[in-house]
Amino acid sequence: MTTYFPFTIVPQNDDERFMLEALKQAWKAFQNKEVPVGAVLVHNGRIIARGHNQVEMLKDATAHAEMLCITAGEVALENWRLAETTLYTTIEPCSMCAGALLLTRIPTLVWGAPDIRHGANGSWVDLFAQQHPTHSVTIRKGILGEMCATLMRDFFLKRREDKDGKN
Ligand SMILES: [Zn+2]
Repeated sequence: MTTYFPFTIVPQNDDERFMLEALKQAWKAFQNKEVPVGAVLVHNGRIIARGHNQVEMLKDATAHAEMLCITAGEVALENWRLAETTLYTTIEPCSMCAGALLLTRIPTLVWGAPDIRHGANGSWVDLFAQQHPTHSVTIRKGILGEMCATLMRDFFLKRREDKDGKN
């Protein structure tokens, strides 16, 4: 199994630069045999929190990359209101993470690849489709989407192979 980060890219802008950092978090999850999702939280052009999926390790279905990243961001800012932040996540957030994003008032969300099963920004449901009474979120999607999706595909492929006893 490769242990080095599998992508070589030169980011063309801030969104790609920060998504690359989220991808590195996803790669951490991958190496820990976790579904490879990673997230970073950016405040004033600086990463203040990082997270990667830890559902298996913590035996907690809510230990998503975004949740851990959001919690770490609250600690970093000593505030549950994450004003003027941008959450970068490699995969379209699920309904739980989308809910957390609304609760913490994160104003901007950037995600990489869609999640057909759980995605809450249009793939399964769209929690952002309707104007929220107190909070609106700016969303950019598909940033480094191919790489984010590739990591997921490779993960599930490998897991199937492991189950089949090929490795
Ligand atoms: Zn989630």
